[in-house]
Amino acid sequence: MDYIKIFSPATIANLSCGFDVLGLCLDNVGDEMTVRKIDEKTIRITKIEGADLPLETEKNVSGVAALALLHEWDTDYGFEIEITKNIKAGSGIGSSAASAAGSVFAINELLGRPYENKDLVRFAMQGEKLASGSAHADNVAPALLGGITLVRSYDPLDIIKIEAPEELFATVIHPQIELRTADARSVLKQHITLQNAITQWGNVGGFVAGLYTRDYGLIGRSLQDKIVEPIRGLLIPGFDRLKIACQTQGALGSGISGSGPSVFALSRGFETAQNAASAMSQVYDDMKLPYEIHISGINPEGIKILDKK
Ligand code: ADP
Repeated sequence: MDYIKIFSPATIANLSCGFDVLGLCLDNVGDEMTVRKIDEKTIRITKIEGADLPLETEKNVSGVAALALLHEWDTDYGFEIEITKNIKAGSGIGSSAASAAGSVFAINELLGRPYENKDLVRFAMQGEKLASGSAHADNVAPALLGGITLVRSYDPLDIIKIEAPEELFATVIHPQIELRTADARSVLKQHITLQNAITQWGNVGGFVAGLYTRDYGLIGRSLQDKIVEPIRGLLIPGFDRLKIACQTQGALGSGISGSGPSVFALSRGFETAQNAASAMSQVYDDMKLPYEIHISGINPEGIKILDKK
């Protein structure tokens, strides 16, 4: 095999209570990438469609992640990467992660799968480090593994995949403003109170327990963030109105997707997710703010192979 085409999905990181540790894989939003083996021992990004992003290998997260992999798994040939971006950079739904995870996934396939997907996370994280200054795994892990992932520990890296309950659906609204992850990280406080920490770890435990027991009420009650949302919410237009809008439609809960500006809601059942989408759209229609909106199931497998030769 020397050619592969993949779908690399968008992801929702943090999920309110799990800053830098929780992430969820979306089903129907994502980029496409093709990767080819070439004789020359190099990584080359030949084409990017749908976004104005650097082609230089060291400046593109897909190139940096690929180099990290090949630094460890030496070959006497190289790879050419083409990317079709559907996920806008700076949207908060894992644009950089889709490219970083996609390139290491595709190269691993072309190498004959020397690594399991879980082992690819650490290479993809190097791409995230380029994008935001922090090698976080909460987008690349769900992109590579599917479902909902928990980074139990960063050092050593210990990632747990949790199958999402079948009836769980996500609604994501993306106001058309750019909020760079690096900037959204810089506003965060470096210290938290014990009281907030207690609330937060209670919610992380509750969320995970709710997923395993299919207790949708518990999932909803746990979607709370005392630490990041009060600060980052101020950077997102109409944030409080969006939260109220989906709550009135019966969504389980809502919050900031990754570092924003996208806002997500989780719902039990497609219809509720659709109602949440209408109510959230109405908020931005009233504010005359352009937006994109997605309703998606939870992708159980992560990156998908579309073609290979
Ligand atoms: P998101 O939260 O949607 O992933 P980020 O702010 O984390 O957005 O990442 C976007 C940043 O990464 C931008 O500065 C962009 O220029 C940079 N970048 C480099 N390569 C890529 C790529 N292949 N895809 C997306 N963003 C990239």
